[in-house]
Amino acid sequence: MRILVTNDDGIYSRGILALAGALRSVGEVTIVAPDREQSGVSAAITLHIPVRVTQVLSQIDHVKTYAVEGTPSDSVIVALEQIFKDQGPIDLVVSGINEGANLGSDVFLSGTVGAALQAHFRGILAISLSVTSIKDVRFEVAAKIARILAQRARDGLLAYPAFLNVNVPNIPLDEIEGVEMTRLARRTFIDSIEEGHDGKRSYFWISRRKMAQTAEHAEEGTDRWATQSKRISVTPLNVDWTHFESGSSITSVTSSLLKELQASR
Ligand code: MN
Repeated sequence: MRILVTNDDGIYSRGILALAGALRSVGEVTIVAPDREQSGVSAAITLHIPVRVTQVLSQIDHVKTYAVEGTPSDSVIVALEQIFKDQGPIDLVVSGINEGANLGSDVFLSGTVGAALQAHFRGILAISLSVTSIKDVRFEVAAKIARILAQRARDGLLAYPAFLNVNVPNIPLDEIEGVEMTRLARRTFIDSIEEGHDGKRSYFWISRRKMAQTAEHAEEGTDRWATQSKRISVTPLNVDWTHFESGSSITSVTSSLLKELQASR
């Protein structure tokens, strides 16, 4: 079993080391990840400057480690298309363990999820894994989950097209009250903008504020509700954004659009 480990917090973050350390007993693990923090870059890829990759001294025995001057997605693409090209297929890509939740519509912005998405695009079982705190983050439970899921994959019980986004509350194992398969909550952050002045010019600083952290505010069955209720959230993701249910008003536009275009000549 060959496992690629990546993240968006950078190659020296504690979460990626906890993850690679936990997966080492299940298969051959290689780390390919950004050389610095890249949170919030989603599935962005670098097109206008070269992407350099350096094999660095590994902090974990028997885990080759590559630092990428690029995004999480660059890391996965370079790993799958170049580093592993002659070494046979990768069976599993795990991205994380992220410091901070990736819940609800934030999966569209998350570099952690973006990296996993690149693996999913290439037909590989993908898991993104986060702990829902940015302070005093505990990685033990998330690392154990990664190991169990990887064992399932090794035993043929979990396979592509599965693409799982897992969020783990930042509490000890004996306080965890359950594991839920969830759907994405609608929003978990509110963006706020601060304007500042820098000599002659002004600038804007976009910052993110968590929405109220009470369980009443999260709809039952969502990932946010699960993690607020001390449960591990497992959300099966898919890349089909098409949503015909909201399309009935669009049909009236599309059905007459060509005629209207022709009439406007
Ligand atoms: Mn991050």
